[in-house]
Amino acid sequence: MSNAPEISCPTCRKSIVWGDDYPHRPFCSARCKQIDFGDWANEAHSIPGEPVMDAELLDETQH
Ligand SMILES: [Zn+2]
Repeated sequence: MSNAPEISCPTCRKSIVWGDDYPHRPFCSARCKQIDFGDWANEAHSIPGEPVMDAELLDETQH
């Protein structure tokens, strides 16, 4: 029973084996881990702020 499951890196879709060879799993590497972290961090930062206010102002002028 030594068959390690294979998974795909969420960032680059590379197939890796779930095991000690890949300490950054489910990512294939530290770089992919940081890329994915940066993506959702940017999305979290974009929720509050000026773009939403701009959209509301535009909506009011159209009515
Ligand atoms: Zn990767």
